[in-house]
Amino acid sequence: MLDVNRVRADFPILSRQVNGKPLVYLDNGASAQKPRVVIDAVTRAYSDEYANVHRGLHTLSNIATEKYEAVRGIIARFLGVADERQIILNSGTTEGINMVAYSWAMPHLQAGDEILLSVMEHHANIVPWHFLRERCGVVLKWVDTEPDGSLDAGKVIDAIGPRTRLVAITQLSNVLGTRVDVRALCHAAREKGVPVLVDGSQGAVHAAQNLDDMGCDFYVITGHKLYGPSGSGAIFVRNERLAEMRPFMGGGDMIREVHKDCVTYADPPMKFEAGTPGIVQAIGLGAALEYLMDLGMDNIAAHEDRLRDYAVERLSGLNWLNLQGTAPDMAAIFSFTLDGAAHAHDISTILDKKGVAVRAGHHCAGPLMDHLGVTATCRASMGLYNTEAEIDTLVEALELAHDLFA
Ligand code: PLP
Repeated sequence: MLDVNRVRADFPILSRQVNGKPLVYLDNGASAQKPRVVIDAVTRAYSDEYANVHRGLHTLSNIATEKYEAVRGIIARFLGVADERQIILNSGTTEGINMVAYSWAMPHLQAGDEILLSVMEHHANIVPWHFLRERCGVVLKWVDTEPDGSLDAGKVIDAIGPRTRLVAITQLSNVLGTRVDVRALCHAAREKGVPVLVDGSQGAVHAAQNLDDMGCDFYVITGHKLYGPSGSGAIFVRNERLAEMRPFMGGGDMIREVHKDCVTYADPPMKFEAGTPGIVQAIGLGAALEYLMDLGMDNIAAHEDRLRDYAVERLSGLNWLNLQGTAPDMAAIFSFTLDGAAHAHDISTILDKKGVAVRAGHHCAGPLMDHLGVTATCRASMGLYNTEAEIDTLVEALELAHDLFA
């Protein structure tokens, strides 16, 4: 079981005040705070062990290379991937999905081919496919959510047609908190010969993963939501797909030989890691994932499930609060609007005065906002260090906001 007080002591920022009140940080879906081990790993990488990786033969370059390359193995362990050569380090989910669009989809897809998406995708898993629609005539097909905000994997599977060339789907909605049975989806899609990209930006934060068992073709993570540095991340690409991909960016590190009239490429994963990488960011991500694995992802998930149950109980007592997403197995991510004229931005400003940090807006999920018939929501998204007492503070601050706008 997670000792939340001990965990909170690991995060220096949690002891600060905001607007004269103790910080209640409920914006983890946007970005999570960093534990001391990550801050220390980043500081040490710059103060003691910094040099460029891969190209030097001097001591510091060797140390930096060793530390950087070790992160690949840590990510593979965190994601349940046996062959770490299937892990490409990058700056986060947005880069990962764009890489799939340019390296794999663009050379393979033709006008009229279809990409299947859910209506609850983040813009990072929509806009790169719109590029293909605009530039190559690829058709985007959408599967809607159910009234409780869940996504029926069976409906996604049924929507796979003869022209479907890729299913690109989130594992966990950043707005509704609902989880998708991506394992069932990947196995069914594989039988139909259709690759699946799983957006694990939120899913990997809240539950242990075993990608070898899940059977996805592509899986993206973004380090800053995993308690690591911004600008860090990775994509898992199954070996069969790696063999089909052409490099997305050209430059140093990804080549074997370069001459005036020809170039040959390094083997994957280096083939897809052009230029000087985010060395220190990656080292920080490695420290974050080791921290999570030491705590135990199952312990984190159990703690967050308790938070979810408590938050559902408290929030459902507010009959002027409209919760979007009520599926029973959802994560502790709550999007809501309040009855009356109060705009989500005004509500979040009032909450901020009470030290409560939430996000307000469309959450980079335009099609979902259209589907829900709202322009914006407030979102309280919880992480491993949140407490039931903080949910009480959220509810008190919401009552104040409601009184002000009633
Ligand atoms: N996908 C989901 C589900 C997200 O929640 C986010 C970030 O909010 C992203 C993709 C994009 O991540 P990043 O901006 O770190 O690339």
